[in-house]
Amino acid sequence: MPDIDSFSFQSLTRATDIGANCYLLQMGNSRIILDAGTHPKREGADNLPDFDQLPYDSIDAIIISHSHLDHAGALPVLIRCQPGAQVFMTEETIELVDSMLHNSVNVMTSQRDELDIPEFPLFTHKEINTIQADWQARRTRQAFSLGKNNEITCEFYPAGHILGSIGIRLEWNGKSVFYTGDVHFEDQTLSKAADFPTEHIDVLITETTRGAAPRRPDYTRQGEIDRLADTIRTTINRGGSTLIPLFALGKSQELLLILHKLKKSSQLDDNIPIYVGGLTTKMTVTHDRFADTSHRNHNGFRFLTGGMDLIIASKKRKKKDANRSIPYDRGRIYALSSGMMTENTVSHGFARHILPDERNSILFVGYAAPDSPGGRLLEARGDDEFQLDEEGSPISLRCQIERFDFSGHATRGELRDYARKVKAPHVILVHGDEPARQWFQQTLRADLPNSKITIPAPGEMISM
Ligand SMILES: [Zn+2]
Ligand SMILES: [Zn+2]
Repeated sequence: MPDIDSFSFQSLTRATDIGANCYLLQMGNSRIILDAGTHPKREGADNLPDFDQLPYDSIDAIIISHSHLDHAGALPVLIRCQPGAQVFMTEETIELVDSMLHNSVNVMTSQRDELDIPEFPLFTHKEINTIQADWQARRTRQAFSLGKNNEITCEFYPAGHILGSIGIRLEWNGKSVFYTGDVHFEDQTLSKAADFPTEHIDVLITETTRGAAPRRPDYTRQGEIDRLADTIRTTINRGGSTLIPLFALGKSQELLLILHKLKKSSQLDDNIPIYVGGLTTKMTVTHDRFADTSHRNHNGFRFLTGGMDLIIASKKRKKKDANRSIPYDRGRIYALSSGMMTENTVSHGFARHILPDERNSILFVGYAAPDSPGGRLLEARGDDEFQLDEEGSPISLRCQIERFDFSGHATRGELRDYARKVKAPHVILVHGDEPARQWFQQTLRADLPNSKITIPAPGEMISM
């Protein structure tokens, strides 16, 4: 092994973008991994971080910031090569990661056959069940030790992004590193705002997701909620139904709570049936289990046992059949995963009912990649037809299509304010596309002229 700097950072992502998050910290004699995600747009083993950089069994601890797959999807593969590493996350994240990984095995198994990717699945249900027993739960704001001879002190801080999400502070030899993970600095409807430290941080590793996406100046979250209510009401009044494609984890529960509050305030008719389906149901069960104890608003509110009258699409073994178990009718809201209307998901299958009728609407409330079916549909607004599947004939496109901004990520202005408060001598920019990181680098260089602002190249060893 080459000479190792005793305080260094290395990005194990394969590109400077969002996805397959994984970062190596060398602190003294200890080697720590932050996150082990997969890349949503890559296939096969190419969707993993570059684990080849890590000698076998050379890692002391792995810490997972939250359960989205771009942060946790590669965990079983990493543990296979690093069997001696201790694994830490919050209790909520343990339960959510377990569900996400099992679902991921199912998705990879069907992709192996349909897309001919022989190395899928990258791990098995049995493997998840075996390794899961060793994951250690830690609470926020309670410091604990890890690494060789327990030389590192670690503390979790609530990140306000989704259930169980945290920022991670690590301290060694009087020097401290803070990793934001994915963060939201304001209250969402369900998630409570992040509660991050600002004092004594030598190295700030920060997400930059929205660096190239300024918000329009007149934006308010309440304004978006009102516009959402108006759109749904208009749809129902003209005899149509609304499809809201949703990420199963996080965005679904936020949106369901918004709908619940709109009904309670009579902005929506209390009798409009709301259907949920796909992976959403399982994720919502976990939210209910932690309704009293997690960092959130509306403590004690449970979606499935008393809180809301949701109609749950019955679970079918074959995903392709799942949307057949949801009856299509007028005057309904269908809150179905996935958020980008990815092929073989419930929202994708159900869209064929919604698209051809001008009374209906499809409402996007989260990110949809331009090349996903959801992203292509947003692009096709105004066209007469839409090619929903790669194969098959186009469907007539007559429904209303709208997009709303309920992002679970901090705005670039909020992250900039946070970085200015922290005034870390070294800021490392991660989790953003190139233009987003460039904006942060230029802006923070001007804001913090005495700090080093780094965009880490994949694999590059950076002295902290
Ligand atoms: Zn996330
Ligand atoms: Zn992320």
